[in-house]
Amino acid sequence: PCRTRFAPSPTGYLHLGSIRTALYNYLLARATNGQFVLRLEDTDQSRLVGDAEAKLYEDLRWAKLTYDEGPDIGGPYGPYRQSERLPIYDEHVNRLLKEGKAYRCFCTPKQIDELNAAKTKALEAGHHHDDLKSSNPCFHISAEESEERASKGEKYAVIYKPSPTPLQVDDIVYTKFRNARPESEFIIRKRDGFPTYHLANVVDDHLMKITHVIRGAEWLISTPRHVDLYRAFGWEPPQFAHVGLLVDKNRQKLSKRHDAVHLAWYKQRNIAPEALHNFAALLGWAPKARKEKTDFMTLDDMVNNFHLRFTKGDVMVNLHKLEYLKEKHNVHLISQEPRDEAQVKEYIVRPLETALNGFPMESNSDSTAAVLPLTPEMALQTKAAYDQETGTITDLAYFLEAARFTTLHLWNPTQFVARYRWLLWQPPKSALEDSLRRLVKMDSYEGLTIGEEFLNRIEVVMFIRDIMKSIPEEKWNVDFLSQAIKDMNIKVKRDKASPKENIYSPLQWALIASENGPAVWEQMVFLGREETLIRLDHALE
Ligand code: GLU
Repeated sequence: PCRTRFAPSPTGYLHLGSIRTALYNYLLARATNGQFVLRLEDTDQSRLVGDAEAKLYEDLRWAKLTYDEGPDIGGPYGPYRQSERLPIYDEHVNRLLKEGKAYRCFCTPKQIDELNAAKTKALEAGHHHDDLKSSNPCFHISAEESEERASKGEKYAVIYKPSPTPLQVDDIVYTKFRNARPESEFIIRKRDGFPTYHLANVVDDHLMKITHVIRGAEWLISTPRHVDLYRAFGWEPPQFAHVGLLVDKNRQKLSKRHDAVHLAWYKQRNIAPEALHNFAALLGWAPKARKEKTDFMTLDDMVNNFHLRFTKGDVMVNLHKLEYLKEKHNVHLISQEPRDEAQVKEYIVRPLETALNGFPMESNSDSTAAVLPLTPEMALQTKAAYDQETGTITDLAYFLEAARFTTLHLWNPTQFVARYRWLLWQPPKSALEDSLRRLVKMDSYEGLTIGEEFLNRIEVVMFIRDIMKSIPEEKWNVDFLSQAIKDMNIKVKRDKASPKENIYSPLQWALIASENGPAVWEQMVFLGREETLIRLDHALE
């Protein structure tokens, strides 16, 4: 069993990168029946963000990344908030001091600045970096004097003396590596009495019996220092896996400026946590065995297929993939037996309602009416699936049926409504004309030659309507209609000038005022015989 941890600093909110590392650690713990620990690294008191801790719990709960031990739930290796562990760090710092592996520095911040300025100057003057390593005057203070000054209450920082030769780092992703130069000395305890990240992180990972550390590659440069500290304490380091940095399509590191890094961005888009897990997991990792050729995975699928092979190097974040996965998860949500109604409501019904509410059905304002010319009368003609008054979907089955044709767009209710509204509501004349105008432009469509006869576009619809009228109710099914329509299409004479001409376009135009949509016969079955004929008549008015 592996013990893993997620160790955020409450200096900001969770983002895509942190969700991803939390998820990997979570998966490894679950896959091995181990424990997943939450530790709050709040030792940089100057950078704390007031509500970050509360938000962290809220976000992790939302993301369903449950931890077994943590600041708010306790556990056998607590406390899990670093600011509550100061005596533990003191004890360890004192041990290093006693063993001569670290020294106290009594310099004031001003003196440190001067020291650094002198260092920079010396470097510019051509001195080698190594010559300057112990340029800190406090390095030479005797142990006795150091003890005495400390016990008298003089403020001090503690500086670690690294190994004089570079140490080897073992990393699951980056394998074995060793820096060319030894580490320069670094602070492990600050003048304010708090440990630095390096010390607290190492001490805690050891004391909390963490076996695996999966974290972002930005921490790779700190790892030689960590390995150095492990050696100084005589401890075995955990297994490290540094996962690639997330970059945008321009290969720029994803930063707070990118909207898509913030969790809020995903919540606003009604991305279910399951879809987010799926998306985040695939940023630099893929499951070992895949049942089908699909990226769709539930959390359980990921746990069952987890392994520690990550891609090395930067990982590009492709938001199209997210849209695709969202769609898959929505479809999964709908088709599950039994269906989780609360989830369906949250991720499908509510977003659809919101999209419909934004749909100006009663708007008379010229600009919106021109775009979406649906009048209240027409809304009344709809099957009563959506209650305009209350803004609620009253017949989910109807919507899901509609969605069945349109699963490709279910991920985006707004687009779903925009594209398929005329399946749900009868298209007004103006929409028909608009779409016809588009059609004419697209295919230089004037009409069709059917058999020996040239029919103009109105006559084409008449031709279709008459054939449709002859099809009785009992044959109104996908098989029969698709055959009938295909037969009709064969009668269309194609010449080279207009290879795209077919019967489907005018039919679609008459039915849903759009060139896009599910197969026309599916539309017809969905609408039913009566509504289909009404629409064909309507198109001819
Ligand atoms: N506190 C560090 C952070 O904010 C933890 C890095 C690590 O996982 O070691 O990400």
